[in-house]
Amino acid sequence: KPVLSIRNLKVSFRIEDKTIDALKGISLEIKRGEIVALVGESGSGKSVTCLSIMGLLPVYGEVSGSILFRYNGRQVNLLSLSEKEKRKIRGNLISMVFQEPSAVLNPLLTVGEQIAETVKAHRNVSKEEAKRIAIRSMEMVRIPDADRRFYQYPHELSGGLKQRVVIASGIANNPAILLADEPTTALDVTVSAQILKLFKDLKEKMGLSVLLITHDLGIVAEIADRVFVIYRGEIVEGGDVFQIFDSPQHPYTKKLLSSRPSF
Ligand code: ADP
Repeated sequence: KPVLSIRNLKVSFRIEDKTIDALKGISLEIKRGEIVALVGESGSGKSVTCLSIMGLLPVYGEVSGSILFRYNGRQVNLLSLSEKEKRKIRGNLISMVFQEPSAVLNPLLTVGEQIAETVKAHRNVSKEEAKRIAIRSMEMVRIPDADRRFYQYPHELSGGLKQRVVIASGIANNPAILLADEPTTALDVTVSAQILKLFKDLKEKMGLSVLLITHDLGIVAEIADRVFVIYRGEIVEGGDVFQIFDSPQHPYTKKLLSSRPSF
């Protein structure tokens, strides 16, 4: 059973008398414990897909189709939830990791406090319990000396550790799905590889499902189970990573692959 399925999702933005069709009816599914990559060039609709799932589209966005998610034992369409229900799900059942950790972390709070706050925002737990959960999440993402690092401020940590803190915060409430929007773009090659390995670990250890947004096919080859190629607001092909890499069907996918001769 899929954790999340998107069916015929259309999003357009009307600005004055102009309409931009950002998504022209995309469909995709993510199963439990699966890493699904969404690849496509800039402007193809990746971020709009993410924002739709998070319920964070701007008010002038017009949306149709469905985003089905299992919630409290039943299947709900995220698009028809109230703002209050969407807030409840965000950061709890569905979490998100962005490209640049420094843009997400508050420089004035210790990293541990920030994770503990995310926990407290969604669960009725004591301060001590929130701290315990925060430290456990830091350990899950392999932050060494989590007890001590809990009290450090973001500027004291390297870029890779900061991104681990953001991921720790993202998984602290045991989400069913983590959306990762270009999570390694701001990191150097070695650190980036470690973060990708971490996603694999989390998938194996906690059955986390990840929707990984990237323009980098190297990343897709490294960790994704399946890949969907998005082009100008449409999914032009999708399936098993190696099958698509071996025999791409759509001209855009062929072009993408030929610009990466190592595949
Ligand atoms: P990607 O993430 O693949 O780079 P986006 O999802 O950001 O692409 O954008 C898809 C299309 O939707 C683009 O044409 C973009 O200009 C348009 N778009 C995205 N967000 C907005 C917005 N808030 N208002 C108007 N147009 C938008």
